Amino acid sequence: MNNKGILTVVSGFSGAGKGTVMKKLMENYDNYALSISMTTRAPRTGETHGKEYFFSTREEFEQKIEAGQLLEYACYCDNYYGTPREYVEEQLAAGKDVILEIEIQGALKIKQQCPDCLLLFVTPPSAKELEKRLVGRGTETMEVISKRLSRATEESEGIEAYDYIVINDDLEACVKELHSIVQNAHNTVERRAEFIKEIREELKQFSKGAK
Ligand code: ADP
Ligand code: 5GP
Repeated sequence: MNNKGILTVVSGFSGAGKGTVMKKLMENYDNYALSISMTTRAPRTGETHGKEYFFSTREEFEQKIEAGQLLEYACYCDNYYGTPREYVEEQLAAGKDVILEIEIQGALKIKQQCPDCLLLFVTPPSAKELEKRLVGRGTETMEVISKRLSRATEESEGIEAYDYIVINDDLEACVKELHSIVQNAHNTVERRAEFIKEIREELKQFSKGAK
């Protein structure tokens, strides 16, 4: 039995609903560990240090890079974002399915380091709905929203690098679908190599005994 957890990277346009989907996934199921990233962006109203992000200065962030304490990092709309290495490695070793909610450059770096990770791309059903969600969230100025929408246009060119696309139309349905993709990944033949070896061995012994 392969007890090591699955590393899943979830990306998607800003405003697609990734944060909302992740929150529900954590509420509905037990075996997930959500990595908390470090960022130099300012906290939004209601965000707290250590919950949504570890908020840091540029200097602190650059020290973490130097010390090799980030699994990956990227610059997104003028701010640094990065994944603290230690938590991810500990949780995977403990058998947890670890989720990184990160943008595409980071996702590609993770795939290079960990080829058996899963890359999922979450998208709203349409561009109009994306704009509606970004405006409706009410956390960014129109200037930042338009920067994020133009970034989304670029990001849409990279979707083929992902293993699955998950459309976040109905929230509950989206969460269920995401969960079932991760659970199915536990049963790929690569991940069940140990079990396959065992049953082959048992069958050999069995047929020897039957002779
Ligand atoms: P992201 O983390 O991808 O930037 P958020 O989780 O902050 O996006 O969601 C953006 C906005 O869209 C929020 O106001 C959220 O409540 C809303 N939202 C998320 N999922 C859905 C959904 N399935 N249907 C309608 N609105 C949604
Ligand atoms: P936001 O400012 O909306 O919270 O996040 C902006 C973007 O940064 C989102 O696409 C989010 O997925 C991404 N992001 C968050 N944390 C990380 C991280 O640790 N690494 C990378 N590469 N991207 C991240």
